Amino acid sequence: MKSRVLNFVEDLRRGAADQYKYVEKALEEAAKKDPKFNIFITLKGEIPENLALSGKLAGVPIAIKDNIVTKDLRTTCASRILENFVPKYSATVVKILEKEGAVIIGKTNMDEFAMGALGTTSAFGPTLNPLDVKLSPGGSSSGSAAAVSSGIVDLALGSDTGGSVRLPAAWTGVFGLKPTYGAVSRFGLISYADSMDQIGPMASTASDLAYLYSIISSFDPLDPTSSGNPWGDKIERIAREEPDYDILRSIKLKVPKELVEHPQADDSIVKEFSRALSKLESEGAEISEISEPSLLKVPQVYYIIAFSEASSNLARFDGVRYGSRVIMPEEVDWDTYYMENRALFGWEVKRRIMLGAFILSKGYYEMYYSMALKARGMIKSKVEQMLSGGGIILTPGSPIPPLPIDYDATDLSRLNAVDAPLMLANLTGLPAITIPVGKRGSIPISIQLIGSLWSEDILLSIAKVTEEIFG
Ligand code: GLN
Repeated sequence: MKSRVLNFVEDLRRGAADQYKYVEKALEEAAKKDPKFNIFITLKGEIPENLALSGKLAGVPIAIKDNIVTKDLRTTCASRILENFVPKYSATVVKILEKEGAVIIGKTNMDEFAMGALGTTSAFGPTLNPLDVKLSPGGSSSGSAAAVSSGIVDLALGSDTGGSVRLPAAWTGVFGLKPTYGAVSRFGLISYADSMDQIGPMASTASDLAYLYSIISSFDPLDPTSSGNPWGDKIERIAREEPDYDILRSIKLKVPKELVEHPQADDSIVKEFSRALSKLESEGAEISEISEPSLLKVPQVYYIIAFSEASSNLARFDGVRYGSRVIMPEEVDWDTYYMENRALFGWEVKRRIMLGAFILSKGYYEMYYSMALKARGMIKSKVEQMLSGGGIILTPGSPIPPLPIDYDATDLSRLNAVDAPLMLANLTGLPAITIPVGKRGSIPISIQLIGSLWSEDILLSIAKVTEEIFG
């Protein structure tokens, strides 16, 4: 069974490992690789004193996306407006990790306020793909994916509103999970579109992904949408135990053809995907093709809801409640004060705030926002039907190869093929996982599974088997 984290934890428990080694190595690697790939916005220079000796992650280094607040450690959302923000408290997930002895080595680069898919809207410059520096690592959790993919850490946290954990995982060849909505506390995650935002784990192996997930998924009274963990210690057992091949025979994998044969999908990637399906079938998986044309509308519905929620959530960055001040209030009238401060946002964030404000404005609200909510409900019920009786939706992790790092990010058309399968999980609140299944040259190939609510145990079990089959 592949697992670096669990092996270290076990060695440390037996007294066979040095508690500083893992973190030291991560910091050394980060110092070497960060200048090459621009992975971190804030990187800790030295090993913290008094490392915890106990805890499930004692001495284990981890990288955290820079939209998750960390007490006394700068948290920027990759935006000029929060460039100097040092939080006074930590997110619940950060508190959990620190209590278990994990060592946060730095805050990772990302698309500004998690808005983007290429990692290129960061005010701190783009992150490059460690597999090929001419390519984007995917976004918005670009730095977290690159930190794992480049071997600096084995664990990282990202956030996923419309694919931001899974796309960069797929493009850098690592594992990524978007949890059931409510399974991981959002307290301390700076909101983008809070009806879809979830913090999600990223890892170099399926076992380590499951292990990290077993630790961060728990009920939090500070998050009104938190529902807690229905699995008891099951996920941790899945992490520790050998892969269970029977799982493949107990599920029905369904491949919606609209999400594979998308007009913008890449033929060679689709071919690799089909090859992966044949292999899973030969291991006993039941796979069938289905068709549901409404799935092609997922990005449209997602963007209307995401922009609306973003325009409302980002209203607090006004230089009064949050955000830097570029001008003093006594010097100018309120409108000027507001506009000067809000000019610190980058172009993509401004675009989304303006579109969101328009969508929610009188006369347009019913036409766009209310319609999108109805469509979201319809898509949800269609998907519930697909998943009834043990069904799991199977798609490529990304039906296109990573785009070039200098791709024109104002033209999002090529991302449409990527958006539909990933955003589906956020619109419906369902858990989804991306699993690497090989490479074509330097291009990683992956599959995505979307399961019913609270089926992370099944998704993670499948990930462990799949990792071995394609290993
Ligand atoms: N690419 C999507 C967007 O730009 C998803 C981002 C995310 O999941 N945070 O909204």
